[in-house]
Amino acid sequence: MQRGANRIEVVQPSATLRVSTMAKELKREGKDVVDMSVGEPDFPTPDFIIEAAYKAMKEGKVFYTPTKGVPELIDAIVEKLRNENGIDVGAENIIVTPGAKYAIFEAMMCLLQEGDEVILLDPSWVSYEACILMAGAKPVWVPHEEGFEDAPIEDYITSNTKMIVVNTPSNPLGVVYPKEFLKKVRDLAVDKDILVMSDEIYEKIIFEGEHYSLAAMDGMLERTITINGFSKTYSMTGWRLGYAAAPEWIIKLMNRMQSHSVSHPTSFVQYAGVAALKGDQSFIKEIVEEFRARRDMIMAKLDEMGIEYAPPKGAFYIFMNVGRDSNEFCEEFLKREYVALTPGSAFGVAYKSWVRLSYATSRERIGEFLSRLERFLG
Ligand code: PLP
Repeated sequence: MQRGANRIEVVQPSATLRVSTMAKELKREGKDVVDMSVGEPDFPTPDFIIEAAYKAMKEGKVFYTPTKGVPELIDAIVEKLRNENGIDVGAENIIVTPGAKYAIFEAMMCLLQEGDEVILLDPSWVSYEACILMAGAKPVWVPHEEGFEDAPIEDYITSNTKMIVVNTPSNPLGVVYPKEFLKKVRDLAVDKDILVMSDEIYEKIIFEGEHYSLAAMDGMLERTITINGFSKTYSMTGWRLGYAAAPEWIIKLMNRMQSHSVSHPTSFVQYAGVAALKGDQSFIKEIVEEFRARRDMIMAKLDEMGIEYAPPKGAFYIFMNVGRDSNEFCEEFLKREYVALTPGSAFGVAYKSWVRLSYATSRERIGEFLSRLERFLG
C-alpha cells in the first residue's frame, strides 16, 4: 500500500482545526454557534494598510521580489526591532516570510535534525511540536511551575538540547513571562550553547507586566531567532506576513530554503507591511483596551463559578481547567450548547483536563458564551 513520508505521517492534523471544522458544519446547518476557538482578532485590518496594498498593486509592485523580502520592509523591521525591542540587528539579520508560522517552520527545518532535542514549555502553541517533528527532532515537554510563570527547564537539558522555544506573551496561557524567567533561559542558553526561538507575535497585546525580548539580553543576539508577524497586532491573519530576525548564518540558510519553496511573501502585502510598521500605531491601544474589557468580563464570571484558570496578562486566550477529559468536554459542549472551544490536549501533554478559549469575539457573544457555560455545567 502507498503511504506518505515519515516526516508528515508523524504529525497529527491540527486539533484546533478539527473543532473549528465541526463548528463550521453546525453553523452551515443554521445553528447559533458561539465560536471561542479562533486564534485571530475580530477587528478589520486598518484602512491605511489596505490602502497601501492597493497603492502598491496600482504602482505595479506585482512581480517577484527578493527572496528575503523588499528592502523597504526589511529596513522598517530593522528600525522597529532596534527602537522597540532593543535588538541590535541589520538588514542581513532579517528574512520576511508568508506568516510567522512559516518563519518558525523554516527556521526549524534549517536548524534541527534527528537526534536534536527541543525544549517546549507545556502547554505551548500547537505548531511548534509539529514543526519539530517534521524536522526529525524530538520535542521535550517541560511542565510549568504553579502560577505558570516559571518552569524547571534546567532539569530537562541534555547534551542533545539544540533549542529552547519561548513564546511571550504565550498562546494558550496568556502568560507574559517575567524578566527573572527569561534571564534563567538566557543563562542556560549561554552557558550550554543552546539556540533560543523567541516567538513574540503577541508582544503588543499586553494588559499587565512588560514585554522583554530575549535577543536583547546579554550574549543572546548570536543565538536567538526572534519570530514576529503582522497577524495579531494589525489584524492581518489572511495576508500572511511575518518575519524572523537571527544571526546571519541562520538567515542565509532560511533564505536558501525559502528560495526553493515559497520564494517570498506576496509582493504588495510586503508594502502593506511597511505601512503597518510606519503608520499611526494608536489604534493598537484601543484594541488592547477592548481585549482587556473582555478578559475581565470572563475572569469575573469564572471566579464566580469557581473555575480554575491561568490568569492571562497578554494575548487573547484563557486556559482553564474543566476537570475532565478536554476532548470529550469540547465535543459535548459543542454538540449540546453549540460553543466551540479548543481542547488542552492540543497544546501539550500535562493539561488534558484544560481547554483554551479565545476572546477574539464581541462582548455580546462572550456574554452568550458565559451563560451557555453556566447552563452546561449545571
Ligand atoms: N505563533 C503563535 C504563538 C501563534 O499563536 C500564531 C497564530 O496563531 C502564530 C505564531 C502564527 O501566526 P501567523 O499568522 O503570522 O502565521
